[in-house]
Amino acid sequence: MYQTKWGYYADFVVYPVAVLVLTAQASGGPHSRFLAVYFLSFLSGLAAWTLLEYVMHRFVFHALPPIAQMHDRHHADPGAFVGTPSWLSLPAFVLGIFIPLRTIADLEIASGLAAGLMIGFVWYVALHDAIHRWPLRRGSLLYKAKLRHAGHHAGRHGNFGVTTSFWDRMLGTVIARGEVR
Ligand SMILES: [Zn+2]
Ligand SMILES: [Zn+2]
Repeated sequence: MYQTKWGYYADFVVYPVAVLVLTAQASGGPHSRFLAVYFLSFLSGLAAWTLLEYVMHRFVFHALPPIAQMHDRHHADPGAFVGTPSWLSLPAFVLGIFIPLRTIADLEIASGLAAGLMIGFVWYVALHDAIHRWPLRRGSLLYKAKLRHAGHHAGRHGNFGVTTSFWDRMLGTVIARGEVR
């Protein structure tokens, strides 16, 4: 979806605030090992984000109309401010992840997992922005991520992971470096 520049970068304000709210409300609970439970849940959420990112990109953004048509706009014009607006993604996180988790898990665990997934999402948005807009030094980790994502833009049939190539390697969708045009 096309956005204004402010809308495009709103995630960097909205999500840190959401994570602070989640952390504050979880810390108010009676759990004696709040920090350890919350931190482990947060790390698990962060790791889970990499799989969610892969699944969404491969099976939704490249497969499910009309979202696929919206994502095509990013492929057609990678420099445009195209992305999922915060007013859509935040309710999706709350209604689709936090509330269902809360029905099966303690507040600390549900909040930690949701916060980890949200920070994973912001990590993805920041990295994807860097890949397309920042001047990157050749040989750096960011540059390697840029090359990997360039393979996706060139071929579309692979390299669905932006934050990591792990799931592409696990699920056989790596585009070899030689195929990057
Ligand atoms: Zn794509
Ligand atoms: Zn891209």
